[in-house]
Amino acid sequence: MTSPDSTTDLPEGFTALGLRPAVIATLASLGYEEPTPIQREAVPLLLEGRDVLGQAATGTGKTAAFALPMLERIFGDVPEAGRARAVRALILVPTRELAMQVSEAVHRYGKSYGARVLPVYGGQAIGMQLKALRAGVDVIVATPGRIVDHLRRGSIRLDSVRFVVLDEADEMLDMGFAEDLEAVLDALPAERQTALFSATMAGRVASIAERHLRDPVRIAIDRHRADPGQLPRVRQVAYIVQRRHKVVALGRVLDMENPTSAIVFCRTRTEVDELTETLSGRGYSAEALHGGLSQEQRDRVMRRFRDGVTELLIATDVAARGLDVESVSHVVNFDVPSAPDGYVHRIGRTGRAGREGVAITLAEPREHRQLRNFERVTRQKIQVQTVPTIVDLRARRLEVLRGSLHETLLGGDLEQHRVVVESLAEEFDVLDVAAAAVKLAHEATAGGARDDEAAEEVPSVSPPPDSRSRESRDGRKSRPGRPRRDRATADADVTRIYIGLGRKAGMRPADLVGAIANEAGIDARAIGAVDIADRFSLVEVPDEAVDEIIGALRHTTIRGKRVVVRRDKN
Ligand code: AMP
Repeated sequence: MTSPDSTTDLPEGFTALGLRPAVIATLASLGYEEPTPIQREAVPLLLEGRDVLGQAATGTGKTAAFALPMLERIFGDVPEAGRARAVRALILVPTRELAMQVSEAVHRYGKSYGARVLPVYGGQAIGMQLKALRAGVDVIVATPGRIVDHLRRGSIRLDSVRFVVLDEADEMLDMGFAEDLEAVLDALPAERQTALFSATMAGRVASIAERHLRDPVRIAIDRHRADPGQLPRVRQVAYIVQRRHKVVALGRVLDMENPTSAIVFCRTRTEVDELTETLSGRGYSAEALHGGLSQEQRDRVMRRFRDGVTELLIATDVAARGLDVESVSHVVNFDVPSAPDGYVHRIGRTGRAGREGVAITLAEPREHRQLRNFERVTRQKIQVQTVPTIVDLRARRLEVLRGSLHETLLGGDLEQHRVVVESLAEEFDVLDVAAAAVKLAHEATAGGARDDEAAEEVPSVSPPPDSRSRESRDGRKSRPGRPRRDRATADADVTRIYIGLGRKAGMRPADLVGAIANEAGIDARAIGAVDIADRFSLVEVPDEAVDEIIGALRHTTIRGKRVVVRRDKN
């Protein structure tokens, strides 16, 4: 499971893109093995100085696709000490969460350049931002509204900006930032490079691109449809979970699914190693496979997997390429693949030769768009499910136990054990004797350790309307065996809001939870049950935040539409 020093063998794919060794070393230390499709296309173009119009959703690796060339373009060979203090690059994003996330990523990618990055967003004390600005920043990652405030105050100067990124442009427009966006773009020097990323390129996005980008190159990651003959016949399932809950969620899903053999795909080597270690520690027989292993180590891992000694193979795409495995019962995407092609390729490893296969994807809330892309290329629905609760797991274990008992009863040969039952039957009811035996067997098979671990709460961000689980959202710890209170009925601090858009308009729980979390800055875990009817939806939210949420939702669009939002009258 130990990988050789991952910085020693540099990922070659990045060298071919024209990135310098120090940057490639940074990427290797992050465990990246090869560029994602959007990186392969965008990096060389942006390094050349071209404007780029990129169609890519979150989860495709687009942040690095623009950040890496951006850093090279704004710093080049200028040493840290010789740099004038001025904002050289501006990245505009729709939400404060994204501002923080992108800013962290740019900081990480820009380690070797010593880049100073500042997120600037509404809701944060302006004094703090001013102080940081005075200290000197190279890159600002901002929401359009707040940057306009700074421009008006004269607290940010943009005349040294040479590189501009509009990230998730469609969302910025959907959120009503059109005017602010124009104001910022107009305030920027004409002599600059611009990259615009958006999941859709329709209408207003195209018009912004036309006016503010110079002869842009358009790139899109495989929008084509897979050949129907190549489409895997598998049950496709997804769970939307926050990153920090993924390991626990995966454990529960694996317990429910009980795979005979599964490949779990991760994006990076680091993740493969960490996940393998965690899962092994929790009693799964798991082994790692990534580009950092020697051929000999690789062969050994593969042999054990093929022989069924190892149940779970935790792998990166690179390592799994050309893997000689017949068919596995489950393919798990611990991270969403960076392109639909990759998804089709990964899940094609299950459901072969007419056998039933299951493809499971753990996606972060912001990545739900990628799921839609996967549905489009596979022309099949991906069922979004709620992470199993402790109660579900117990029920599942009992079900398995029942099956085993059934088999044992059919198998006969119980004479030796009947004696015990007969002697107890003199004192107790036979049914009670059997129930006590089931209890013992259940406790023995449940694996106490896993039950404890499973007690950790996993807020499922996107429960499907028909099997939603209220208890999985309230953030409180549950204890196995103890009935949970239902938040909506037990707590008086929840208000239901009505949103005038429902299933008919394609509304999904993720849309609502995403909109509320992003727009009102509410922790997704604080959001209660989501009910989606044909023409409207109801969402339980904390009392104290209800006005803020209603206000925020009224100023935005959900699934591209302005919607009626109010307290639910019933
Ligand atoms: P993004 O679409 O930019 O939000 O990136 C999604 C995730 O992919 C982030 O967690 C990145 O750390 C990760 N990532 C980006 N590029 C690569 C790569 N070439 N290899 C592995 N992981 C990557």
